[in-house]
Amino acid sequence: RAKLLQRAGHFYFTRSMGVDIRERVRMMHALRTAIDEQEMFVVYQPQIDLATRRPVGAEALLRWKTKDGSFIPPDRFIPIAEFSGLIIKIGERVLREACRELTRLQALGFTDFTMSINVSQVQFRHPRFLDMLTGVLAETGAPASHIELEITESIAMDDPDVLIDLLGQIKQTGVCIAIDDFGTGFSSLSYLQRLQADRLKIDRIFVTEITSASRGSSIAEMVIQLGRNLGMSVVAEGVEDERQAAILSSLGCPLAQGYLFARPMPFEQLAGWLKENGVR
Ligand code: C2E
Ligand code: MG
Ligand code: MG
Ligand code: MG
Repeated sequence: RAKLLQRAGHFYFTRSMGVDIRERVRMMHALRTAIDEQEMFVVYQPQIDLATRRPVGAEALLRWKTKDGSFIPPDRFIPIAEFSGLIIKIGERVLREACRELTRLQALGFTDFTMSINVSQVQFRHPRFLDMLTGVLAETGAPASHIELEITESIAMDDPDVLIDLLGQIKQTGVCIAIDDFGTGFSSLSYLQRLQADRLKIDRIFVTEITSASRGSSIAEMVIQLGRNLGMSVVAEGVEDERQAAILSSLGCPLAQGYLFARPMPFEQLAGWLKENGVR
């Protein structure tokens, strides 16, 4: 019986692998043409100050709209872009685009506005990442002090010394570092302290979980306190309703982002949204 199960398991495994690899290869080709034919663009989701409800910045999020008009979500294509190395080119484009828009916002008078940009670990570890970053900053004239790079907690986990060194060099350019999806990985507290990140982003699943009943025991609450103790700013991600906003606010969470405040939007809408919602 064990043998039978083993065989059945093996069969299932190889078959699903085959499908997976074919699908990956297909998407890799599609991704390559998507970059060349400009099927990708960046949208921006405002981040707000929970106490005043005023926008303080936005996160740049990549979108892929195929020729037939359907959207492929980043959670599906980013892993393939990473696996194939295409993320290097894609990531550089997102960074350049977001920096250009930041410069435009500054010119429009939004001088207190921070742009957050996701950086994949493949990109981050690329030997030319730092050169690329300083090049894009110089070329777009974007103020480094108003740029934040979001890296996931999983990057933060291996090669501690190498990573801490790299982060130090990146911070020398003046850009800030946020740890994205915080709480989903396993980085130790002492390591977190050594990373000297500026901000923690509470993953959406922990925001979904908070209720008044979870007071004192929720992960969101622990992250807020951790941020306070380590002198880091904290952003709650995926805030969808007033109840969550009220609890986060009562826990002292300074910043938030989510459908309750605004969905990701094209740049043309962002400036108008910022004016209506009271950014300077
Ligand atoms: P993330 O960086 O954690 O981004 C937050 C995700 O939550 C975004 O999904 C955003 O649209 C979504 N979101 C925001 N508010 C809410 C809410 O109230 N409810 C719900 N249900 N979702 C909300 P999106 O745009 O699909 O991106 C998914 C992930 O793909 C991102 O997670 C990030 O890891 C990755 N990604 C997106 N753009 C880029 C990029 O330019 N470069 C890299 N390397 N990764 C990216
Ligand atoms: Mg992010
Ligand atoms: Mg996140
Ligand atoms: Mg995420």
